[in-house]
Formats: sequence, C-alpha cells, structure tokens
Amino acid sequence: MSAVAERRSTGTTPGAAVPPSQSSPPSVPPVPLEHEDLVVRRGTRSGRYVIIAVHSTALGPALGGVRLWHYPSTVDGIRDALRLARGMTLKAAAAGLALGGGKGVVCGPDPAPTGRERRDLLLDFGDLVDSLGGRYTTAEDVGISPPDLVAIRERTAHVTGLPADHGGSGDPSPSTALGVEAAMRACSRARFGSPELSGRRIVVAGMGHVGAKLARLLVEHGADVSVSDIDPAKRAVARELGAAWLKPPEELIAECDILAPCALGGAIDAANLPLLRCEIVCGCANNQLADDQLANDLDERGILYAPDFVVNAGGLIHVYKEIRGYSEEHARDLALGIEANLDDILAASAEDSVTPLEAARAIALERLANARLERTAVA
Ligand code: NAD
Repeated sequence: MSAVAERRSTGTTPGAAVPPSQSSPPSVPPVPLEHEDLVVRRGTRSGRYVIIAVHSTALGPALGGVRLWHYPSTVDGIRDALRLARGMTLKAAAAGLALGGGKGVVCGPDPAPTGRERRDLLLDFGDLVDSLGGRYTTAEDVGISPPDLVAIRERTAHVTGLPADHGGSGDPSPSTALGVEAAMRACSRARFGSPELSGRRIVVAGMGHVGAKLARLLVEHGADVSVSDIDPAKRAVARELGAAWLKPPEELIAECDILAPCALGGAIDAANLPLLRCEIVCGCANNQLADDQLANDLDERGILYAPDFVVNAGGLIHVYKEIRGYSEEHARDLALGIEANLDDILAASAEDSVTPLEAARAIALERLANARLERTAVA
C-alpha cells in the first residue's frame, strides 16, 4: 500500500500492474542514515537486488509497500527505500497508529519484467521479507499489483493488503477517500468556521481510484464539485456525478474553496503556486508539494495546506485493520478520526505559529520520542 511518492514525470501509481518503460529515471538524492535496518540482498533466483529499509519500530512493526522500479543504480534504489521508509514512520506516527515505518524496493529491469523473470524477483523479495521475522510487513506500492502480492505471500506471511479473494482487505481507496473528506471538514472548520462541505466549491484533480470515490462522496454531501483527469475517458464519470469537467492543468488554478490534488506527486510547484486561487489544499496524492519549502510559501499566500501524509492515512489505516483484525466499522472510525487528528494539528499550527506541515511533523516526532522513552523504561 501506498506510501507512494511519485514525481509527475516518472511514475505510475499504486494499483498499476506494470510501470511504463522508464527510459531515464532521475537519480535519488542522498538520505541521512538513521534507520534501524537496511538489508540489501542479491536475489538467488533473479540475480537482482532486493532491498528493505526499516526506519523505526518504536511504535510497532514497520509497515510499508514494496516498489518495483528500474533505478539508474542500486544506490538509488537503496536511497529510495531509506527515504520512503522514513516517510512511513512519520505517516503512521501522525495518524496515531501503533506501526513503524519501513519500505521495500525491488530493483527491476527496464522495461518492467513479466512472466518468470517477474515471479523470480517477487519470490526473492518474499524471502528477504521473511528473513526479518515480522519486523517489516510489506504491501502494495508503485509497480506492484495485487497478483504480485499473492506471489510474495508464497514466501512470507508478512504481507498485507492482499486481494479480498486471498483473505486480504482488498482495495484501500474507499478508506483513503473517506479520510480525505474527513480532513476537508477539519480544514473547513479551521478556515471557514464550519466543517460543512455542502455548497463548498471543491476541485478534485485526478479521477483515479481515490479521486473518483472522493468526488462521489462530496457530491453526495452537497458540495459544488469540479473534476479533472488527463484521461478524457474519466469525463464520463464526471457526467454521471453531475460534476463540472476541467482540463489539466487548468484545474490547479481554478477559483475554489478546496483544491484536492489526487493524481501524482508534485502537483504544486514554484511555477503554479503564485497562480493558485484556492483557500485550502487538501488531497490524497503523496508528495503534493514539489518541495517541502512550498508549504511556507503557501502559508505566506494565506492558503491552508493540509499535510498529505496526514490526509491520506486512510489507506494505511485500511491495511492496519488487516494486521490488527479490526472490523470494517472500527477501520471506518479510524479513517474518520483523521478529522480530529487534523483538528489537533491545525490547532497546534495556529498556536505555535508554524505551518501545518511543521506542526504535523512535530506531533509525529513527539509520539515517536515518547514511544522510545517507554521502550527504554520497559527495557
Ligand atoms: P490512480 O492511478 O487510480 O489515479 C490517478 C489518476 O490521476 C488517474 O486517473 C490518472 O489518469 C490521473 N492523472 C495523472 N496525472 C494527472 C494530471 N497531471 N492531471 C490530472 N489527472 C492526472 O491512483 P490512486 O490510487 O487514486 O492514487 C492517487 C494518489 O493518491 C497517488 O498519489 C497515490 O500515491 C495517493 N494515495 C493513494 C492511496 C490509495 O488508497 N489508493 C492511498 C494513499 C495515497
């Protein structure tokens, strides 16, 4: 599942079966090594490197998807695992879940492998997951499809987010959409003094698994919804919902109350930020800001930016449910709890005069520090 962090130029999204050919993927910048584990192994079947980074297990076993991607070099794959694992720790801590952060990377060829070659890679990765004895549980991420998870499951029990017909929790996007809507209520409360979304002008940019479900929920709750997608076929969904259709990238600068980036990462960059005409940015996409510094620029422009890793935690909650054996209702309550969680973050942001992104990070880091202290005390 997705702690997916995509740059617009390179990627596909979780759920995509096979990533497109990646002729010149960018290299990944260095990442500080502050992780509990970094395991790199050359697979015995595939002869290719499989990697797991466990950033922290202070709050619980590390959970994070596995990415099958072609990197310029193995070092880039290692850096990506380290970077994404750290993000998962923050995401779980900010959501108040008893989970740590980890990530898997399978360094695949270009184009993405199929058939026997793909299966060998997946089994090699499954063996690596199993060797950690439950410190890391894997799930779906970019380049990995539900049948891939089933193959990994042949070698290890530490897999979550399996298809429903394999005893798993299935598609996480309904929980993610529910959580984004809950987050929008918190943002509306902070900005407009009321959580009510009815009548609010909301632009959903990206009508994929999450965006389409979010748009539907918003229409049902009386919002004035406009949607966009680079895929013109999605226009039919807009028509069915009675939502206005905007053509990318115009939707990003449309005048509205809430802009919900729900496509790939990097939707907001230094070029389009001065042109935004929304009050709030609150969507499901991972890494919505091309650069974290832009959170300050949004703040200066008076636009409330709800940190993506807080807003889109519904997907993580969905697979967490599978690990904990929670009921649908309990998982739904947890996803709806994103509203109260974000209320707290926005209150802390106002009180400490920091951006919501900084406030969310501080709260997550405090939870981690407390968990480490408790652990030390017990030891
Ligand atoms: P998806 O692949 O189903 O949908 C993405 C949609 O965005 C597609 O319809 C695509 O055509 C469209 N798109 C791509 N580029 C676009 C552009 N420039 N402008 C407008 N539309 C564009 O993906 P998804 O599962 O809905 O996930 C969406 C985002 O949310 C991703 O960033 C993902 O990492 C993140 N996320 C998803 C989940 C989940 O539960 N699926 C959980 C957490 C985070």
